[in-house]
Parts: sequence; C-alpha cells; structure tokens
Amino acid sequence: MPPSPTKHLFDCLIKGYTTALQLNAILLKERYDLRVAIQRQKTKRTIKGRVLNMPRAMGVSEAQEITAAALAHPEASQIPNLEALEGRRRALPTCSNCKLVGHIRTYCPTRPT
Ligand SMILES: [Zn+2]
Repeated sequence: MPPSPTKHLFDCLIKGYTTALQLNAILLKERYDLRVAIQRQKTKRTIKGRVLNMPRAMGVSEAQEITAAALAHPEASQIPNLEALEGRRRALPTCSNCKLVGHIRTYCPTRPT
C-alpha cells in the first residue's frame, strides 16, 4: 500500500521541522561564535584605540593653547607646574638665605657652597 498524500505531507512537515530545528541550533552556535569573535575584536579595538587616541586628543588644540600661552607670557610659562602643584595649597616659598620669594634655601642661586 503506497503512503497516502496526507501521510507524505505529514512526513515532510516532520522532516522539515526537524531540519529547521537542526538549522536553528547550527545558527545559534554560529551566532554565539560570531558574538564571541566580535566581542574579542571590540576589546582589541578599544585597547588599541585608547593607546592611539590619547596622544592625538592631546595633540592639536592643547598644543596650540600651550604654545600660544608660552608665546604670550614666556616668563609665566616657566613655572606652570610649581604653581599648579603648590600655588593653591600654600604661598610661594621664601628663601631663608637671600629672602627672595620663589625658591627655598636649598635651591638658592646665591647660597654659599
Ligand atoms: Zn635665595
């Protein structure tokens, strides 16, 4: 007895459903692998980007500002770090050797050796 058209259709549906499930499982696995690969690439890119972008961000605008400030006030740009570190916390040091403000006895240019 040959299989009825209904039985054949049902078999096809079952087969197709099973194939779809298997395909779905394969796709899920592929998607997972892809996501892992993308995540890995993203991590690499951000690490690389951090290293490459930091000096570039410092580059143009800040360098121009610093250069312009140095050209406008050459005398002030000589001690920016001293002011930034010490200025807001305490007054400039006074030398106990020559009584001049701006350095301490240890760094006094007129200190007898
Ligand atoms: Zn001094």
